[in-house]
Amino acid sequence: MEKIQMEQPIVEMDGDEMTRVIWQIIKDQLILPFIDLKTEYYDLGLENRDKTDDQVTIDAAEATKKYRVAVKCATITPNRARLEEYQLKKLYKSPNATIRAALDGTVFRGPILVKGIEPYVRTWKKPIMLARHAYGDIYKAMEMKVGGAGKAELVYTENSGIEHRRLIYDFQGAGIIQGMHNTNKSIENFARTCFSYALSEKMDLWFSTKDTISKTYDGTFKEIFQNIYDKEFRAQFEEQGITYFYTLIDDAVARVIRSEGGFVWALKNYDGDVMSDMVSTAFGSLAMMTSTLVSPKGCYEYEAAHGTVQRHYYKYLNGEKTSTNSVATIFAWSGALRKRGELDRIDALCHFADMLEKATKDVIESGRMTGDLAAITTLENVQKLDTEEFILAIREELEQLL
Ligand code: NAP
Ligand code: MG
Repeated sequence: MEKIQMEQPIVEMDGDEMTRVIWQIIKDQLILPFIDLKTEYYDLGLENRDKTDDQVTIDAAEATKKYRVAVKCATITPNRARLEEYQLKKLYKSPNATIRAALDGTVFRGPILVKGIEPYVRTWKKPIMLARHAYGDIYKAMEMKVGGAGKAELVYTENSGIEHRRLIYDFQGAGIIQGMHNTNKSIENFARTCFSYALSEKMDLWFSTKDTISKTYDGTFKEIFQNIYDKEFRAQFEEQGITYFYTLIDDAVARVIRSEGGFVWALKNYDGDVMSDMVSTAFGSLAMMTSTLVSPKGCYEYEAAHGTVQRHYYKYLNGEKTSTNSVATIFAWSGALRKRGELDRIDALCHFADMLEKATKDVIESGRMTGDLAAITTLENVQKLDTEEFILAIREELEQLL
């Protein structure tokens, strides 16, 4: 079979521990035999980040802006224990935070659905993708304890010196206050990214806030989304036959549970934090989630939602058998290859991505899976495979499909 040719490279960000081991097996078994792979390689493994004073992470983010498609392996976010373990020069920031800041991106997460790993919510038939705004609100808030009686006010002073004041509360006794903010620019970027993503996935977009209570703050979110939709996206949505739907957060929660899925749900920072844990757990497993960072300029970075699976790595180093689930990392590769194919109009690359995903699902649905899935599946006569056996089973399936 002739290998599929690529035109432009994908930015490849290697990572740490068990996911780094899996990364190499996936490339050797599932990608390189079929594709004349072009990547620009960045080693984001902790040792190399330390060696380059984390410059490699910044370079990888810049390369993502240039080539627009990246695939990233899970990486260690160093803490005190890692500082000693790897004898680091300092505590580096999370690579994901660095890349997100450079691209001004929004993270979209969604489940990978297979028969035998059933959502806890019976009606869910299609994925629900969550888009969480990653800036501001209570994550950048100022808080204060109030000791006793006194007036709390909001004060905004224009650079020219003009003051605007609002009474928050006239305290008669002890209490608490909090001030938070967001910026129009960040909300606009978030909105554009959500609309673009819904278009690229051909899914409806839902957005929810509490604007009946928070008329100015949440009301601004609602307004900005609506304006951008009307001016920049309505025509394209109508052309694709998808809809933009705004509703109150409590109404949205009830509708999500009754729905059959198949939409993108955009959420403010805190709502997204809470709802993504609920939705991902209700779909089954963190190792069966995709995670995509999308920038308002249309750059895409694909990764797994889980970490480096440290505990399995130490077993692996001891020569013990591991059964680590590689599905999310495989789907990071297929996502990046498909996007590269779409941008460069290479149908064979998109088709390959589809087949790689199908082969992966087919293996699981045939009852062959890693230990984490074997523990929760509704299938009978399940065969538990080790890390490498699972990927080799996918390779066999893939060869038949192609
Ligand atoms: P983790 O790597 O997600 O693993 C936590 C546990 O979840 C594992 O011990 C394992 O449970 C289970 N698990 C997760 N992924 C699995 C998979 N693919 N297959 C099978 N089981 C899986 O989280 P962590 O151990 O808390 O973090 C390890 C490192 O990852 C940390 O240094 C952290 O900074 C980093 N991290 C990176 C990212 C990222 O780059 N996106 C995200 C989160 C964390 P059992 O041990 O019970 O089998
Ligand atoms: Mg959380």
